Amino acid sequence: MAGESVDAPGGPIPFVRISRRGEERVNAGHAWIFGDDLREMPPGLPPGVWVRVESRSGLPLGTAMLNTRSRIALRIVSREVIEPGRAFIARRLREARSRREMAGWGAERAMRLCFSEADAMPGLVVDRFDDVLSIQILTAGMETYRQEIIDELVSAYSPRLVYERSEGGARKHEGLAERKGAAYGEGAGTTSVIDSDGVRFMVDVEKGPKTGFFLDQRANRRIVRDLSAGKSVLDGFCSTGGFGLYALAGGASAVLAVDSSDYAIGAARENAALNGFDDRWEGRSANLFHELRELAASGRRFDLVVLDPPAFAKAREGREGAVRGYRDVNRIGLSLLSPGGLLATASCTQLVDLPTWKEALRSAAADARADLELVSVGGPPPDHPVLLGMPETDYLKFAVWRKRSP
Ligand code: SAH
Repeated sequence: MAGESVDAPGGPIPFVRISRRGEERVNAGHAWIFGDDLREMPPGLPPGVWVRVESRSGLPLGTAMLNTRSRIALRIVSREVIEPGRAFIARRLREARSRREMAGWGAERAMRLCFSEADAMPGLVVDRFDDVLSIQILTAGMETYRQEIIDELVSAYSPRLVYERSEGGARKHEGLAERKGAAYGEGAGTTSVIDSDGVRFMVDVEKGPKTGFFLDQRANRRIVRDLSAGKSVLDGFCSTGGFGLYALAGGASAVLAVDSSDYAIGAARENAALNGFDDRWEGRSANLFHELRELAASGRRFDLVVLDPPAFAKAREGREGAVRGYRDVNRIGLSLLSPGGLLATASCTQLVDLPTWKEALRSAAADARADLELVSVGGPPPDHPVLLGMPETDYLKFAVWRKRSP
């Protein structure tokens, strides 16, 4: 009987039939099918089960993880009907690895090894920090194969520690409790030192932000480094110090780094010392919006202002506010530039796309009466792949602008 027949060699996997609109999304290369587009399935399928996705008439469209509790009811893992399990996980991790090898990143010891939908493993994030792996499992579908994932990572990368940071809002939407702690290599220390283009960072996978360190700004930090010689730099939203320390590696004369998190400022200070930059690095734990206004009022100016704010919106309702946030923070940042100074500015808000972000920058420049010329455009590094068919993977925007003299 169509719909109940099974061709996965390892045994039956249940079917889910979807609407015409859902089918079009799958065919366009998008990994998300919403609950509205589910049509027919056997009763009682548990959250996280991997299913065969079919068109209304029963044509196979691929394999997905089902979770009817989430707004995103199906997450496509393959356009083929595959046999779920460790062998498939191993295949996806191998593909992710070779993607990075092709970009020349094969020998990197600090990089994202697997990035969720962007590596066709929805909800699985794996970061490597030297001999420590930090993982996030954010979907019920990945939770189903948690042990297989850990076993496969241990066999592929021989880490001394696999630390799990399965936290945050995403898991709540999937109906999962948070989980944090060692998943392999219990008792081992949670800190490792990474080398990122010759700059060293201490990464604590237990206490650090998200998985321990923001790897996604690597290419953009290089851009900042290469523009920094002799410049005074403001590292706004510095977290554990990335941009500021790259600027010092590039010969910046001084860095003032600001973040509202005491942990971040403490970690950034240790990282500055680790690189022997403490004499040129100053950190302040403060709300940047207030701090920028005070610096501007006191007449302080910088040759290079870096602004890497957190995601300003997580849900669609927050988009307007996010756009306002980008306008405000960039306007104040611009007012701190010395003549001919550079604004290096980023957005990691998935819901604010490139044209919308540019529009926010345009109104910030207008408010600040600044003529900006483009110096450099950045984006994500190769360990954060972008899928054309899935705009959500294209979240990181970065550009450097020079403020012309009036
Ligand atoms: N530039 C960093 C990543 C920044 S992530 C890097 O290269 O690693 C965003 C940071 O903004 C977080 O560290 C968070 O603590 C900080 N933050 C959020 N709101 C803030 C505010 N109002 N003022 C200052 N810092 C803030």
